[in-house]
Amino acid sequence: MNGTSLDSRTRRATFERLEAGVFDLAVIGGGITGAGIARDAAMRGLSVALVEARDYASGTSSRSSKMIHGGLRYLAQGDVALVKEAASERQILRRIAPHLARLTPFLIPTVSMAMAAKLRAGLWTFEKLGGVPEAERHEAIGLAELRRREPLMRTDGLNGAILYPEFLTDDARLVLANIRAAQAAGAVVLNYAAAAELTGDGVVARSTLDGEALGARVRAKLVVNAAGAWVDRVRALEAGEGDTRLSLSRGIHLVLPRARVPVNATLILRAPDKRSIFAVPRGAFTYIGTTDVFHHGSDYWPAPERSDIDYLLRATEKALDIAPIADGEIEALWSGVRPLIAQPGKKANEVSRKDEIWTSPGGLVSIAGGKLSAYRAMAERVVDLVVERTGAAARACATADVPLPGGEAAPDLAGMAPVAAERLTGLYGSEAQAIIVDGAGVAAEARRAVTHEGAATLEDYWVRRSARAWFDHGAGLDALEPAAAAMGALLGWSAQEQADQVARCRALERDSRRLLEAAPGMEMQA
Ligand SMILES: Cc1cc2nc3c(=O)[nH]c(=O)nc-3n(C[C@H](O)[C@H](O)[C@H](O)COP(=O)(O)OP(=O)(O)OC[C@H]3O[C@@H](n4cnc5c(N)ncnc54)[C@H](O)[C@@H]3O)c2cc1C
Repeated sequence: MNGTSLDSRTRRATFERLEAGVFDLAVIGGGITGAGIARDAAMRGLSVALVEARDYASGTSSRSSKMIHGGLRYLAQGDVALVKEAASERQILRRIAPHLARLTPFLIPTVSMAMAAKLRAGLWTFEKLGGVPEAERHEAIGLAELRRREPLMRTDGLNGAILYPEFLTDDARLVLANIRAAQAAGAVVLNYAAAAELTGDGVVARSTLDGEALGARVRAKLVVNAAGAWVDRVRALEAGEGDTRLSLSRGIHLVLPRARVPVNATLILRAPDKRSIFAVPRGAFTYIGTTDVFHHGSDYWPAPERSDIDYLLRATEKALDIAPIADGEIEALWSGVRPLIAQPGKKANEVSRKDEIWTSPGGLVSIAGGKLSAYRAMAERVVDLVVERTGAAARACATADVPLPGGEAAPDLAGMAPVAAERLTGLYGSEAQAIIVDGAGVAAEARRAVTHEGAATLEDYWVRRSARAWFDHGAGLDALEPAAAAMGALLGWSAQEQADQVARCRALERDSRRLLEAAPGMEMQA
């Protein structure tokens, strides 16, 4: 798989290939849902086209809490089938992409024997259903051990904690790995190409890059709409399909220096409204999330509200013995919307996370809901349906067995500083070696983003290929100039274009901090 190269210098030729083919399947949307479907279908031997309106993972699939959940919460809802699926998907991801399924301890504080017993009963069932290996089973700890492991935890009212292993991922890189695997299996994939019309026998895709007047009429036997929060908008391209099926819920995350919130495990903390929030250690940072409130409008950069920020800060300060966090200490924040299937009358955090598939009278298949964690199983179900509907000759699904790009053995980075090595292997897995051979650092990463990872703008590198916008000091702004120079040299950017690319990223960063700058240190009710 190391040979996959998604080179953004071949966009014109890719539009021509989209125009020339008659595909079994056209996928609209390059988030985790569309990427997973394209990979599965291409690996079964179907001819596949995928068009993404912006960058791969530029919607919700780069704004999650970055957890591969085992499905414990479904147990509380009594949904055994979902628990089984989530638990086994977790193991599959670990097998095919160990760098994107990092085992990490999760810790739930308990307030009584009864609570601990209930949690343990749930975890036993989960471990049995999910075939969790002996060495990775949960553990109950008392107060003394809790204080030793997590000295920051305020323990008044607690009687101990339960520790259990879950997986953390990098959501945008998981999408990218699936997109690249789809391409390696023969799919024609293109970002910055929006489905602008449904033609009855496919879609018309148009470039959304500034100054690029390219487009293609993509002919396909079947079209799958995997446009996430934009699913209803794509459905509305068909006559008579203007109703609303989705409701959106906004979740934000705050990134703080790890030294400021030095947690060891991922802590599950109880917010004053009794919801759970997470404090997640990642390299030199700890991120805190998330909120769950209805949001109107499917925006790429959904604006948080001040109350979202205060909710997370105050809940963290209540659970951990830390000095109040000032706005200026927040390194970065991100916000995203969950594309949920509308369930009128329910609160945002009560709406089901199950996926649903609909077929319009015109034959458009739309999929929404669901989670990042079980994307592979969801894709398998959709591709089964595609095979049945199109009658295409197809091999059996193999996505559970073939490694994703980067999923082979990771290189030995023993000489490197541990945080840098963890970052590099977490993002690139076995492909970290190629970055090192090219000299390592920002320029090497940015070059690879262009030649192997389909990056067409500086934002693609800064936010989604390198995660520097969220997990680098000062939001990775220092990386912008060298990355623009390295990308510009390959993409033929003028000095003006390079400066514009940098300015656009700086504007995004400024905008994301708008609320913080407007009200430094402001205290409000959560
Ligand atoms: C705050 C938050 C935390 C979460 N945490 C977790 C978690 O920890 N674990 C987990 O498993 N799940 C989590 N989720 C859920 C998970 O992130 C989503 O279920 C998943 O990312 C949805 O993926 P998607 O591909 O359906 O949508 P998206 O990622 O939004 O992809 C849809 C894509 O379609 C594209 N598109 C739109 N219109 C067009 C068009 N006309 N033509 C072409 N392309 C188009 C968009 O640009 C977009 O890239 C979280 C979600 C949120 C919001």
